[in-house]
Amino acid sequence: MAITNRNLTWDDISLTSKLLGAGHFGEVRKGTVIVDGERIPSAIKILKHGADDASTQDFQQEVDIMRHVGYHPNIINLLGVCIYQGQQYMALEMAANGDLLNVLRNSRVQKGREQAYPGNRSDSGALTVSTLSPVQLLRIACDVATGMAHLSSKEVIHRDLAARNVLLTDSLIAKVADFGLSRGDGIYEQTSKRAIPFRSTAIEALTLRIYTTQSDVWSFGILLWEIVTLGGTPYSGMKSRLLLRRLREGYRLPKPRNCEADLYQVMLLCWRTCPEDRPTFTDLVKQLDSMIDDKHSYVDIDKDDDFEYEVVDSDDSDNDGINDAFMV
Ligand code: AMP
Repeated sequence: MAITNRNLTWDDISLTSKLLGAGHFGEVRKGTVIVDGERIPSAIKILKHGADDASTQDFQQEVDIMRHVGYHPNIINLLGVCIYQGQQYMALEMAANGDLLNVLRNSRVQKGREQAYPGNRSDSGALTVSTLSPVQLLRIACDVATGMAHLSSKEVIHRDLAARNVLLTDSLIAKVADFGLSRGDGIYEQTSKRAIPFRSTAIEALTLRIYTTQSDVWSFGILLWEIVTLGGTPYSGMKSRLLLRRLREGYRLPKPRNCEADLYQVMLLCWRTCPEDRPTFTDLVKQLDSMIDDKHSYVDIDKDDDFEYEVVDSDDSDNDGINDAFMV
């Protein structure tokens, strides 16, 4: 079915009471929309009543960017928009498996125990296994790189690429989501003060506030690390200022024990200090595709690792990198 985005009428939309999530400008509800005479599942973003100008602008910007980007199987596509009784609705393709960070963490199983995540952190020496195979993990990474190659071909910079901003369909196809921070100018210099997700942000964006597709590539390297560690928290326990100092000195996330050297090498290329020295998303797609094809296991999910990951719903955790965000 061709996914098109159009102006929907209120009759095309059916909303359920199931809340899928809450964004900064409103809520996201499960529903359906009629596209080309067919009723299909949809995640419907609703701009909250009395939203301030900034939220209204962000909402409109998200619609504009999705329209500019056009359809791609590895991004969340816009089905249509609707204004009804002064309320704005944005109908998005449904990604039934939710966000990648949760999928990775929920895939963890302690060998010899019944309990999967969430549960107690593993005793030292316990084996962590995943319900996802190494090929499935690489496939997800390749899907994300493919979606990002499309965004970069449209000169759109994501600026907040991370596992929590990738959604998975019921058949585990990964789709890049959350264009809220995106800019469509090829290069973006941030002039206003705002919180940034420092754990996944490129060194030049932290220091100079310069964002390019190549700074998205840095974030992709962190996302690859999140995939391999089944939702580990990058630089766990390290505060933003110390991290920035150490990154400047050349420090990078260490190789997870369950990660093959060649795959870690891909991460290190994404974290090169000079943005031009990093691979492009097209290079990354080729590299990951060939790793998937050659049947060698680049991720050993039977191996224990000693990375730390933080609980998803804890009130005081900084797992989204925003709560202890770094102001630049
Ligand atoms: P956002 O405002 O885009 O950050 O969305 C908030 C939350 O709503 C996300 O973290 C997801 O859990 C959920 N969500 C957003 N879009 C979708 C979608 N297309 N399919 C399923 N869940 C979604």
